[in-house]
Amino acid sequence: MSEIVRCPACGAKNRVGTPPAGKTPVCGRCGGALPWIVTADDATFSRELDAPVPVLVDFWAPWCGPCRMVGPVLEELASELAGKLKVVKVNVDASPMAAGTHRVQSIPTLILFKDGRPVEQVVGALPKQALLERLAPHLR
Ligand SMILES: [Zn+2]
Repeated sequence: MSEIVRCPACGAKNRVGTPPAGKTPVCGRCGGALPWIVTADDATFSRELDAPVPVLVDFWAPWCGPCRMVGPVLEELASELAGKLKVVKVNVDASPMAAGTHRVQSIPTLILFKDGRPVEQVVGALPKQALLERLAPHLR
């Protein structure tokens, strides 16, 4: 799966698919780090956790009001933390196994994974700054 993202540094549009193992997506024009947001389902979830940077998983659903507040915040974080963070969106209705494995009981739930292991969990919609404070100790 790939999608078009705009480079925060030079504005070029890039098609972001799966970067080579151990790499994060970079801009084809300027080489700058690109925001890395992907959608995962039960089939791809564990594969998406395998990344060279911490992975923030957003467990959400379309009918969940607070989830719609978290979405844009995560897009901003992915842009500001390009090259340092990967964001994975999981629709819990479509992907119940991934949510069940990590005992997600209410949404939105955000779980930060580092080297494939959960290191931080945030339940409910936090303002961007508060969320950043929870994530910062785990970001390189
Ligand atoms: Zn660029």
